[in-house]
Amino acid sequence: MPVVNSIADAADTLREWRHDFHRHPELGYAEHRTARAVADRLREMGFDAVETGIGGTGVVGVLHGRTGPGDEARSIMLRADMDALPIEEATGAAHASQTPGTMHACGHDGHMTMLLGGAQHLARTRAFEGTVYVCFQPAEEGGAGARAMIEDGLFDRFPCRAVYGMHNWPGQPVGSFHCRAGPLMAASDEFTIRLTGRGGHAAKPHECIDPVPCGAAIVQALQTVVARRVDPLASAVVTVTTFQAGDAFNVIPDTATLGGTVRTFDSALHTEIYGHIERIVREVARAHGVEAEVTRSKTFYPETVNDAGETAFCLDVARAVAGDGAVHDGVPPTMGSEDFSYYALEKPACFMLIGNGESAGLHHPRYDFDDAGTVWGASYWSALAERALPVR
Ligand SMILES: [Zn+2]
Ligand SMILES: [Zn+2]
Repeated sequence: MPVVNSIADAADTLREWRHDFHRHPELGYAEHRTARAVADRLREMGFDAVETGIGGTGVVGVLHGRTGPGDEARSIMLRADMDALPIEEATGAAHASQTPGTMHACGHDGHMTMLLGGAQHLARTRAFEGTVYVCFQPAEEGGAGARAMIEDGLFDRFPCRAVYGMHNWPGQPVGSFHCRAGPLMAASDEFTIRLTGRGGHAAKPHECIDPVPCGAAIVQALQTVVARRVDPLASAVVTVTTFQAGDAFNVIPDTATLGGTVRTFDSALHTEIYGHIERIVREVARAHGVEAEVTRSKTFYPETVNDAGETAFCLDVARAVAGDGAVHDGVPPTMGSEDFSYYALEKPACFMLIGNGESAGLHHPRYDFDDAGTVWGASYWSALAERALPVR
């Protein structure tokens, strides 16, 4: 079974939908126009119910198969994300963002379109037995929109057996699928280190407590966390990405602020790493006579762990759509992170990667979702629902 014929016939419409999303990108929790467009399309398709405003701007469409609603065991959820990024677009495309400083640089416009394409086919044919929920979540890019929807009662209101997600993947051929059972994407969060010394004239350092060399020493010392404290067979990242201090050449500043990210595939290791960071910052700062405070961001994305059974099932679905040669099992995990992990903590889940060809990388100002991938992704979604909820 290659791409679904009716989806291939709808390719022009799907491209229009995708370009419309792309022209009007919205940041996390501000996806008002986007959510309205998604809800309108689901209603036009004849969905049995369309609920909006879940976890902020989230939308869930409810579609029953030919024999009516399914119980939890005969219900599944398919998820896409809706938010864009604070990036100035540089694609020069005709469908480029019309909102300065905001763009769909992670392909969530494509994710919505692929899921809408699959939904349209499922709504026309209803060749399944049970209930398919299509979930369009806000704020994947750091805002934990998945958690917001779950806390707003997502699984109480839409009880289901399993949840499925998908992300486009630049550098792999369009129409190819990539997955692995177990950890696929990393746990991730951010930290801020505030250093307070005593500023003064740059020519009189002995009368000051300079937070800059203290910050530099902390950056160096933090390199030992992964190198000396983490099992070499485990994976972890501790990266300092920002260092802000001072405004003038001749002034020693009062304060310095460092920021960075921690990534692992293991929440327990994550907590352990913060113990090392806090100890190093506290003791190095003390050696410099500087006061230090470490804060962890409120949004923690756990590691995304694919259920073994669901992953085998999804790989079979992908093979049926794209052929054996285009489906790759056991791909290496990535240190990128995804809030799909929150669904996977609640339900058996599988997060699939779909090739996006030779586009610029995710989050790059010249990145664009490849429209040729839409029919493959939409066919995957509809085939997945029909196989997960077969007509008995
Ligand atoms: Zn992203
Ligand atoms: Zn993304």
